[in-house]
Amino acid sequence: MQTQAGPYWQKRLQDRLAAVDAAGLRRVRRVLSGPQQVMVQVDGRALLNFSSNDYLGLASHPEVVAALRDAATRYGVGSGAAHLVSGHSAAHEALEQALADFTGRERALLFSTGYMANLGILSALAGRGDWILQDRLNHASLLDGALLSRARLIRYPHLDVAALDRRLCACPVANRLVVTDGVFSMDGDLAPLPELARLARRREACLIVDDAHGLGVLGTNGEGSLQHGGVSDPAAVPVLMGTLGKALGTFGAFVAGSVDLIDCLLQTARTFVYTTALPPALAMATLTSLRLVREEAWRRTRLLQQVTRLRAGLTACGWHGLLLPSITPIQALILGSNRRAAEAGQQLARAGFWVGVIRPPTVPEGTARLRIALSALHTEDQVDALVAALDALLTQWMPEDRFNPAGGIAC
Ligand SMILES: *Cc1c(COP(=O)(O)O)cnc(C)c1O
Repeated sequence: MQTQAGPYWQKRLQDRLAAVDAAGLRRVRRVLSGPQQVMVQVDGRALLNFSSNDYLGLASHPEVVAALRDAATRYGVGSGAAHLVSGHSAAHEALEQALADFTGRERALLFSTGYMANLGILSALAGRGDWILQDRLNHASLLDGALLSRARLIRYPHLDVAALDRRLCACPVANRLVVTDGVFSMDGDLAPLPELARLARRREACLIVDDAHGLGVLGTNGEGSLQHGGVSDPAAVPVLMGTLGKALGTFGAFVAGSVDLIDCLLQTARTFVYTTALPPALAMATLTSLRLVREEAWRRTRLLQQVTRLRAGLTACGWHGLLLPSITPIQALILGSNRRAAEAGQQLARAGFWVGVIRPPTVPEGTARLRIALSALHTEDQVDALVAALDALLTQWMPEDRFNPAGGIAC
């Protein structure tokens, strides 16, 4: 017999949802009825999209689409099995080779998503008795990977190399992994990679970089954060992880490194071994987008121009106090309150702009924000229009005090 509130597990669902609602943190999905691009159809309305990780405009590029279509004709759709069973095709092989070349490493290994790559890497490379040290603002998948590994997890203050060193000195010399995002996904700032590489070498720790948001965007040919930071020796960062669903515009992820690293992951990373291989046609589409990333440097140039333009505009109209420092297409305006961030997102949507509203637990408590993501395909006029809409928002909120909007919110 059920009680009135239903069985225990059902009550728990209701309690959790009630808690989410009480905190003003209920998340909903918007429904797109067309491709991911600058102008999107969302819930039946046209919105200017500042909410996508498709930084280079490749997710619906005609050549990438054609590559997917042609490869589906040749390979079919599903890979049919895990890589170690019968799912590993010539398309995967070619993409792994291309990614190894692109990143200047001996080999690369494909994973089905970045989330899975991070779980796989950390649980394969560390275990009980080992230590994993992570930047406090690392992506959730890196934190989850550390938990899954059963190693001791230590989080150091954001970008603080000296604090990391103190923590390294305090933990025993054993298997120690230092793990960082290359570009922080919700802040847009960069890890101090040269300093981290020097420290890791001095303390004999293994440095792991997740370059989900740097790959394709930073570096002369889109090689990513390491090239941007001048960290060219592969030995300085033995484990480099990248994702294919952001600037590359497709789907999936990879790890690049030495022959030994890749062989070890291939044998033991459970999220590689026990899952179906990516569709081979996606690997072919990614080969095409990788070529576009390398050849079409104008996309990075355009993107950088839009970053500069947006920041200049926001600074001129009084948002600068809330704008985090960032040279990347990720531009965050810290609003602090969850309610205020949600309100800002709704008002911008009414004005025709889609900007990400990011709230805890994705970001720390009290740092709810607008996350503006730029694309190489945004026009100057579109960026200016967003600045004007944000200017109007500020005026509406704080008419008298619009040039001092910080209101106690520190950045
Ligand atoms: C998006 C992201 C991931 C996860 O990649 P998916 O392919 O989307 O699963 C991992 N790390 C970082 C830093 C990311 O931003």
